[in-house]
Amino acid sequence: MIRYALTCDNGHDFEGWFANNDAWESQVADARLECPACGSVRVEKAPMAPNIAKGTGGTETDGAFKAVREVARQVRTHVEKNAEYVGKQFPEEARKIHYEEEGKRGIYGEASPEEADELREEGVEVYPLPNLPDDQN
Ligand SMILES: [Zn+2]
Repeated sequence: MIRYALTCDNGHDFEGWFANNDAWESQVADARLECPACGSVRVEKAPMAPNIAKGTGGTETDGAFKAVREVARQVRTHVEKNAEYVGKQFPEEARKIHYEEEGKRGIYGEASPEEADELREEGVEVYPLPNLPDDQN
């Protein structure tokens, strides 16, 4: 059995199961296949949703990933130049700055997702820094 995503001429989306592609073609040709929503027999296969995650070597997809990575790199470079690295002290330091125990300055460091959530709940502005694939090197 194969499943096809189908659409009728009134724009209803539905699914059909067929023994094989020939079965699908003969059912459509004989108008035996009806849209469950409106009964139209003018049914065709829905256009496939593009699957960019699959990345079958398309240069456009590569370009998009490169552009995203470049922006991520620029953000990191900017932060690293303009902020002080405080490592695991980040949640503590961020609170000190937020509650004005220390002068305002930009910092970056490490926080678990839970710690970051807690900070946000307290009204501290935290933003995740994008990880780059080549950080692992
Ligand atoms: Zn329909």
